[in-house]
Amino acid sequence: MARAEIDNQSRDAFRRSVRKFVAGEIAPHIEAWEEAHSFPRELYRRAGDLGILAVGFDPAYGGLPGDCSMIIELTQELAAVGSGGLIAGLLSHSIGAPPIEALGSAQLKARVLPEILSGERISALAVTEPGGGSDVANLATTARREGDAYIVNGSKMFITSGMRADYITTAVRTGGPGMEGISMLLIPGDAPGLSRTPLKKMGWWCSDTAALYFDDCRVPANNLIGQEGMGFLGLMQNFNRERLFIAAMAYAFSKVCLDEAVAYARERKTFGRPLIARQVVRHKLVDMATKIAPLASFLRDIGSRIDRGEHPIADVCMLKNVATQCLEHCAKEAVQIFGGSGYMRGTKVERIYRETKVLSIGGGAEEIMKELAARQLGW
Ligand SMILES: Cc1cc2nc3c(=O)[nH]c(=O)nc-3n(C[C@H](O)[C@H](O)[C@H](O)COP(=O)(O)OP(=O)(O)OC[C@H]3O[C@@H](n4cnc5c(N)ncnc54)[C@H](O)[C@@H]3O)c2cc1C
Repeated sequence: MARAEIDNQSRDAFRRSVRKFVAGEIAPHIEAWEEAHSFPRELYRRAGDLGILAVGFDPAYGGLPGDCSMIIELTQELAAVGSGGLIAGLLSHSIGAPPIEALGSAQLKARVLPEILSGERISALAVTEPGGGSDVANLATTARREGDAYIVNGSKMFITSGMRADYITTAVRTGGPGMEGISMLLIPGDAPGLSRTPLKKMGWWCSDTAALYFDDCRVPANNLIGQEGMGFLGLMQNFNRERLFIAAMAYAFSKVCLDEAVAYARERKTFGRPLIARQVVRHKLVDMATKIAPLASFLRDIGSRIDRGEHPIADVCMLKNVATQCLEHCAKEAVQIFGGSGYMRGTKVERIYRETKVLSIGGGAEEIMKELAARQLGW
């Protein structure tokens, strides 16, 4: 991540421009995009123009300096419309592009990163397979070197932006069993032998999620990202960043749930008084706020440690879990406060409620986070 200093004025100006973009170009359409299970491809270009896709990437390849706190602020602005699918889809490069930046040759980076960061091309990350997502070291998709190409066979599952990605950063097995045999390969969306099927989901409707099939799929050998056998290392570094981002989403959506619930409780009257006048409701709101407040400092603390070059793996795992548990609580209580309206399409809290589970499964499920944290702590 490019960590060069960015002054407070530029930071504030960036935040204001994102807020304007969200209010003017996303909020009016988000309900329709959710129902259509898609958003316009043009939105990537608009986000690219505003620098939204470039934050934290190397300026040499079209990136903008930005630290973790800037990513957290950006996530908060984007979360205002209450659609995790929009964030996951629009920012799928945030998991697809970092392995290219971290491991790729200067030539590969110069070829693809500017196109991705400007929104011209869409990037996705394909690690999970039908046979399992948690046990990454045992993935089965193979890439066999044949002359100046790799021949890829296997399949990937639940891939965000999988249907329309132009560049798919794919974990493949080029060597023997275990983590040492894993490499990363950049598979073009139009590679011969690649086919894709859209998947229907509980939430994140406006993002596309796909199963990918590689049948003797031919990929130029110079699309190898880094060295053969280095893929697992690249993925592990990527996971830290992805998990911080998921925690930032969970935090931001928890706040949206609280704000929505407070506004509704002020307005809705039952038995002659607003809901917020009832102690039961007020305590629900305070319980939500009580979970959200410490999360803000936990996020900031882990973010600044990552910015300092530390790898606080156990803390990132715990952060992800505490953040997603906070969101599960806040979404459940917000829907309850909304009553029947919270069960209806078109309210933010209904959508967020459907989106909670993906955050505690994707990017490393809750159980796996606990196991990894325990191992890191030497237990
Ligand atoms: C909407 C969506 C988008 C996604 N986007 C992407 C993407 O862009 N790219 C990508 O690569 N993947 C993506 N994923 C996949 C996601 O990362 C995986 O679903 C996740 O890692 C879990 O893998 P799995 O589904 O195969 O579950 P499994 O690995 O089969 O695990 C199933 C359950 O068992 C638990 N479990 C597994 N092993 C153990 C154990 N040893 N001890 C205790 N419990 C265990 C898990 O915690 C989980 O609860 C996405 C998933 C979803 C739902």
